Amino acid sequence: MLFNDLHLCDEIMRAITDQGYDAPTPIQAAAIPMVIAGSDLLAAAQTGTGKTAAFTLPMLNRLRPYGNTSPSPARHPVRAVILTPTRELADQVYTNVQNYSKYLPLRSTVIFGGISMDPQTQALRNGVEVVVATPGRLLDHLNQKNISLAQVEFLVLDEADRMLDMGFINDIKKLMSLLPSKRQTLLFSATFSPEIKALADQLLKQPEIIEV
Ligand code: AMP
Repeated sequence: MLFNDLHLCDEIMRAITDQGYDAPTPIQAAAIPMVIAGSDLLAAAQTGTGKTAAFTLPMLNRLRPYGNTSPSPARHPVRAVILTPTRELADQVYTNVQNYSKYLPLRSTVIFGGISMDPQTQALRNGVEVVVATPGRLLDHLNQKNISLAQVEFLVLDEADRMLDMGFINDIKKLMSLLPSKRQTLLFSATFSPEIKALADQLLKQPEIIEV
């Protein structure tokens, strides 16, 4: 399979070419068409499989049309949230989002704890469509009304098993209660434990399932 077969828009294809990728990895080949078609997804994938691009590329493709209509500096609603267990992973995913969206009029930012909230607050106030975040700090910003999730169309939980291991289950449930129920949700996890399956049952609607 080639990236050309996946029906990604020209702006994203150019960004992929800049990265020097030849062909999609197996998880990308499986996930990208399902996500573009609008399905929820439950995916078992380890780090190093190309899982970040497997959710980021089709997510950006789905956000693109609307993003093109309004490149004004007016406040943009947050349309996509990617949750990660750690600040390191948040940073890594954010770098991917930036690389793959560089030719798209979409703004993104990253939010995690352990540093001042002020620059994050400023970035949110300036308007961003895509937020990569750890759950606790995202809730802090919600409590301070720095961000609204009322218009989120797209949610990704990356390394969901680690989020559960780290005790984020209540934070995740709180966040879910603040998101529109009409949305597309992708859950990536290294393992499919009973806890992950229970979480998937709560968050996903008729998901496609991928194990690579
Ligand atoms: P990940 O599993 O998302 O952490 O990605 C692991 C590494 O694979 C990262 O350095 C990516 O830039 C790289 N990568 C992702 N997709 C591809 C691809 N289709 N071809 C070559 N490298 C890739």
